[in-house]
Order: sequence, then structure tokens, then C-alpha cells
Amino acid sequence: CGIVGYVGSNSSLEVLLGGLRRLEYRGYDSAGVAVVADDGTLSTRKRAGKLAVLADDLAARPLADGGTGIGHTRWATHGGPTDGNAHPHLSADGRIALIHNGIIENFASLKQELLDDGFTFDSETDTEVAAKMLGREYEQGDGLPAALARVVSRLEGAFTLLALHQDEPGVVVGARRNSPLVIGLGEGENFLGSDVAAFVEHTRRAVAIGQDQIVVITPDSVTVTDFDGAEVQAQEFEVSWDA
Ligand code: GLU
Repeated sequence: CGIVGYVGSNSSLEVLLGGLRRLEYRGYDSAGVAVVADDGTLSTRKRAGKLAVLADDLAARPLADGGTGIGHTRWATHGGPTDGNAHPHLSADGRIALIHNGIIENFASLKQELLDDGFTFDSETDTEVAAKMLGREYEQGDGLPAALARVVSRLEGAFTLLALHQDEPGVVVGARRNSPLVIGLGEGENFLGSDVAAFVEHTRRAVAIGQDQIVVITPDSVTVTDFDGAEVQAQEFEVSWDA
């Protein structure tokens, strides 16, 4: 339901929890984060319930923090509001974390295809199908954006997806169809949000991402393409409302 992404040199956890708090008004039943720490490890934490449940858990059992992260608040559509169904979801090798807003309409047939190929699932969500697919496509070796492009070309429905890979610190990729995603431009850091509220505390410079587009952010670059990889000229705008 709410999505935040961050790449930079500050604490991802702080940015993600702050952003998710600002998206709370949209309603949700679970929350989770994935962070690539400065030592290159990927860790995730996800909990059913209010953001405070996740924040308390993180305070009690700290995650290795770092400059690359994604955060999610979930409004369950496929699978009940449990810790296991909360996002992020992982690729089979556990090296990719993915979050999703929306509904993947054709997830059942995609899931059957993955089950036939020997994949196993940790949740009842439509989302985990995209995580497993992304892991499989990544094995082709042409990088996260190209892998994501192949995944989204097979998805039907509404989605905003964000993903990161533990071997690619400093990179968050995203894609959207029928569901919103906005870039926030910083100095030596960049943001993604399902809504400008996710990052308005840090920057007022924003870039809208169009229908069926893919975005790649690093601390000092932002690239937007269509699903075929052709670069798109995205329009910057100033967030004017008071947050
Ligand atoms: N369909 C996904 C799920 O049930 C995402 C729901 C959302 O937009 O939060 O996990």
C-alpha cells in the first residue's frame, strides 16, 4: 500500500521508517523493510500490525543498517495479514528483496509455472511470484534492470515494484503499471515513493514515472526507461504542498 526506496550515505532504516510513517494515512495491516548493509549483507524484517510493531522489533533486535533500502506497508489482498505474507519477499537464493503495491492478476498461472520448475514459496501472496521470477531472470547475468524488465513484461494487473540485490549496493530498481511511483532527487542520495509524502521530508525535487516504465536509482543517478529498455525523458517538478 505504501512504498519507499532509498540509496545514499545516510541510514536507510531511518529514511524508510520516516517515509512509511508519512504514508500511514493510507491504511495498512503490516510493514517491512530490506536493507543492504555497508558490509554487503542483505537483511529484512517484516511484521504484521502497526509500524510501531516493526519499529519496536528493530529497536529490540537491530538490523545491520546501510545506504540501500526498501520499505513497505501492506494492505493484504492475497494471503492474510501475517508476518510471513508481509513484504519484502525474497528470491530463491535470498539475495534479492522485492516489495509490491497492487495486484498481479495472473499470479496463479505464473506460480504454477514456478512450482513446476521446483520453486517453493514462503507466503500466499501474489507478490512472491514476482520475487521468485526476478531471481530466476537475474541469473541470466545482464543486471537487475534487464531482469526486472523481463519480469514485468509477463505481469498483468496493477503493480508498483521495488527491488534490490545484495551484490548491487547503491542500486534500487522500480517499475510501475496502473499504480503510482515517484522519484525524489537528493544530493548524493535519491528516493522512490508511492507518493511524494514518502520523501518530502528530505527533498522537494520530484520526478513522476509514467505508465509502464522502469526506474533505476543510485546515489548520483536516476534512469527511467520503458519496459523495452528505451530511455524516457522524465519531467522534474517541485513538490509545493506543506507536508
Ligand atoms: N497484493 C499484494 C499482497 O497482498 C500487495 C498488497 C498491497 O498493495 O499492499 O501482498
